[in-house]
Amino acid sequence: MDKLVYLDIASLILIVFLLVSTISRKMTMGRSNKAFLLLIATVMLAAAFNVVAVYTNATQNPNLDIRQFAHTGYLLFHNLTPLVYLMYSTTVTGETFFRKELIGLDIGLMLPITCVVGLLASNYVTHNLFYFDENLKYVRGKYFFVLYVSAALYAVAGLIYIFRFVKKMEPIKLIALASILPLTFAAMAVQALDSSARFEMFSNALSLIFISMTIQKPENTIDILTRLLNYPHYAETIKKNFTAGREFTEILINIANTSQVQELAGHDGYMTLLKHTSKVIENVNKRMHGKADLFYLDRGRFRMLFNAKNGEKAEAIAGSLNRELKQHITVNSRDITITAHICLAHCPEEIGDFNSLMTFGWDFHKTNAYTGEVVKASEIFEQKKFTILNNLHSIIEKGLKNKNFKVYYQPIYSVSQRRFVSAEALLRLIDDEYGFISPDLFIPAAERSGAIHRIGDFVLEEVCRFIASDDFKKLGVDYIEVNLSVAQCMHVGLAHKVMDILNKYKVSPEKINLEITETAISFSQKIMIDNILELNEAGISFSLDDYGTGYSNLKRVVQLPMKIVKLDKSFVDEHSNPKMRIVLKNTIRMLKDMDMEIVVEGIETSEMVDAFSELKCDFIQGYFFSKPIPEQDFVKFISERQSA
Ligand code: C2E
Ligand code: MG
Ligand code: MG
Repeated sequence: MDKLVYLDIASLILIVFLLVSTISRKMTMGRSNKAFLLLIATVMLAAAFNVVAVYTNATQNPNLDIRQFAHTGYLLFHNLTPLVYLMYSTTVTGETFFRKELIGLDIGLMLPITCVVGLLASNYVTHNLFYFDENLKYVRGKYFFVLYVSAALYAVAGLIYIFRFVKKMEPIKLIALASILPLTFAAMAVQALDSSARFEMFSNALSLIFISMTIQKPENTIDILTRLLNYPHYAETIKKNFTAGREFTEILINIANTSQVQELAGHDGYMTLLKHTSKVIENVNKRMHGKADLFYLDRGRFRMLFNAKNGEKAEAIAGSLNRELKQHITVNSRDITITAHICLAHCPEEIGDFNSLMTFGWDFHKTNAYTGEVVKASEIFEQKKFTILNNLHSIIEKGLKNKNFKVYYQPIYSVSQRRFVSAEALLRLIDDEYGFISPDLFIPAAERSGAIHRIGDFVLEEVCRFIASDDFKKLGVDYIEVNLSVAQCMHVGLAHKVMDILNKYKVSPEKINLEITETAISFSQKIMIDNILELNEAGISFSLDDYGTGYSNLKRVVQLPMKIVKLDKSFVDEHSNPKMRIVLKNTIRMLKDMDMEIVVEGIETSEMVDAFSELKCDFIQGYFFSKPIPEQDFVKFISERQSA
């Protein structure tokens, strides 16, 4: 038997291995991966037919039907290879193979392969490509050269295509893509001279392996944990879509409770959650023939990307996902409900560029309360809050410049003294375009941008100016509570700055109480602790704000010089629950035993006032007495009550 059959068999084995490894590395998603799979499959079929063809040639097998079939199969797939290869190259550079505007060219591209197929189909009768002579020997027909012409045309088209994108691609990728050409040419040249020398399959197998090593690296495109496509690949795909003006539909899935799950069920639980979610998404996509590319970005953000053709399925798929993701999963023997927020976006119609899509997608679920329904991007855009969120940075800067920030005061009532002993300074931003903006929105944004330091200075200056005023002195209010944000606490110069402002207005330190949230102190940074100790030494007292919302880190509470603890409203809202009453009773007793004073926040009814007075809270703050009000209104409010 011809020894070269062994080389063909070896090539076939190599290609089968490559196929198995590509699938087992999960490199099956995304256009480029799919095109690569198609390429391997085409080459593999060519190789398989080739082995039979070469073997039956070598053994002069008399069953001509089998031989005819094997040669036809081989020639078909072998000639399809350059075309599939060309398609694959276009996906690597991010182009679409068939484009409406290039329809003429596309037809041109299909012409050679159509001729080849025609010749193959008629060959049984015409013997134009090949036949078997009376000695059962395989003989090439008079139009066999058409196959070479077709292959050469595709090779040239491939070359032209690749070199059009020379600048866009990394050199190694370019070399890998282009490698198939010289290798094939060399193999074809050898084969044209000596039809028994068959290196073509082997050269194809080598190029595919080279491409697989240099271009199709899973770590470049696949997220290790979820096995979905990763963020860099997402960014690349989306950017290409926008640049090419391609329409696409996206389902955005944000899991809002990933951090809670992590706290509740540990890191393993978090991983299980992500894996479960990706499985559900994969299954729904498969079952409903969504043909979407699936991505995992980070921190519970999943994306499904539909091309224009499959876009109409997106809505039904989003609905199914919404139902299926809502079911409980058990993680570390805890039942967990996934809070999946799902949004449907049509691009570029609703969102026109990559950055907007990223910003929108990252936080869309924070803009409206979770309704449990699939939302549409256009609906969210209509919400005022979203526009504000998107423009917050400039709104804050404008606010600082145009003095749109105002300090309001909310009175705090002492149960034992039966009078208003203090007030909390709460910042308000009133924008000329968007109106009132909640501090829950602008404080976190200001922390991120760094504007919080200028804002914090402003609040303290305003409060000190007020305390130093004659109006204030007449009120009999002992001190004002001022909120400090995490970023301020972490600032090395904080203590000095606070004291400078106090000195500037000749305000004595006991007139100021600084509120730090429970979450902030759990960071337990040395800078923060130093700041607190230094200010405390200078005579400023501290309150622990929002107690009961985070980890109530008792060690910190004990270590830091906190004078007051403020029980959070969420705590208070549940006070009628008998168990919560036990928690409240004991928490209050414990804190009081540590000589701390207690403020309850968010008291809205007289019934609540009674309940917390009974629980021996020292101070009460809430809408029952007053909402936060402007300085003048506050002066009026206190004057009226204190004299009564
Ligand atoms: P906080 O320090 O816990 O302030 C208490 C919040 O509860 C205020 O919301 C107040 O208006 C609200 N509140 C008080 N009583 C009631 C009530 O009876 N019912 C209800 N439903 N709410 C009540 P606000 O003013 O929207 O402030 C939100 C948060 O923004 C504050 O929470 C604080 O963390 C932050 N913030 C406000 N002003 C400043 C500031 O000047 N600097 C810093 N760093 N943060 C501030
Ligand atoms: Mg506060
Ligand atoms: Mg609070």
